Amino acid sequence: MNRITGQTRVLGLIGNPVSHTLSPFIHNHLAAAMNINTVYVPFFVEPEHLQSAIEGAKALHLQGLNVTVPYKLDVMSYLDRLDERAGKIDAVNTIKFKDGLTWGYNTDADGLLRSIERLGLFLEGRSVCILGAGGAARSVAVMCGEQKVKKLILVNRTKKKAFDLAEDMARLFDMDIDVCGFEDLVEMKAVDTCFQTTSIGLHPDHEASPIEAEAFFKGLQWAVDLIYNPSETKFLQIAAAHGVRTVNGLGMLFYQAVRAYEIWNEITIPEEVAESVLASLTAHVYIKKG
Ligand code: NDP
Repeated sequence: MNRITGQTRVLGLIGNPVSHTLSPFIHNHLAAAMNINTVYVPFFVEPEHLQSAIEGAKALHLQGLNVTVPYKLDVMSYLDRLDERAGKIDAVNTIKFKDGLTWGYNTDADGLLRSIERLGLFLEGRSVCILGAGGAARSVAVMCGEQKVKKLILVNRTKKKAFDLAEDMARLFDMDIDVCGFEDLVEMKAVDTCFQTTSIGLHPDHEASPIEAEAFFKGLQWAVDLIYNPSETKFLQIAAAHGVRTVNGLGMLFYQAVRAYEIWNEITIPEEVAESVLASLTAHVYIKKG
């Protein structure tokens, strides 16, 4: 905190709750690593104060805000401009105040893409299934469309939400899309890559997996779980036991923050700087827990 001067620009996170967020750790380490004079703090916002929180942040000349649950949709009513990607995902996780205007972005798809490509998972031409059809699944589906996957299968408990997502994606991308329930997934044509975007398996629900059927995991090459606590969900444990390459959600969380920091400061963060802050984050989240 002794870095704070008269020139320090303030960044923050609005959400409800915000007390467990890792974003201050990430953004304040990025600032130190890049030698940029910003400070990032969490702001707990009540639903009835969302608009005044955004207007207040603008009036105070904050540089920008991240937006988390439950406000990623609601904030869209209070923006002057919406970035094209955020429009496709239909949710905003990053706000930038610039030239008197309030801009909305969504960095989740970029963050996830950067986190999987650094490990060697490239999506073009792949057959992909997404488990879940909530907010996170929308970012994954847009990423799949942009990366030209060959086939996309959307799987959700509430099938209507999967059909709605499929309809939206079919409007945006020329992509072969199917919808099914978890019970039908094993019967579907093989997929090589699966993104697990449901909250099943999230701490403390360590023993639950949305799918356990051996036949499903046998054909897989990559399993990505957006959950990062625990570091290896039951879904990823089963996948790894079948020789499938696994990725958890910490990289997505980290790289969506990197992208937001790049947007706010109009910079590119070199990969070696990002890797070093990611190593600190990984140690902070996992090693201290033993
Ligand atoms: P939503 O609430 O929007 O969606 C939740 C999804 O999980 C829905 O598809 C829901 O199905 C499904 N689901 C929940 N419980 C069950 C259950 N018991 N059985 C079957 N399906 C279930 O949440 P988000 O999309 O925002 O987040 C989903 C997960 O992704 C969370 O674990 C979150 O932590 C993680 N995430 C990680 C990020 C990262 O940076 N790593 C970023 C964003 C999210 P239904 O529609 O039927 O209710």
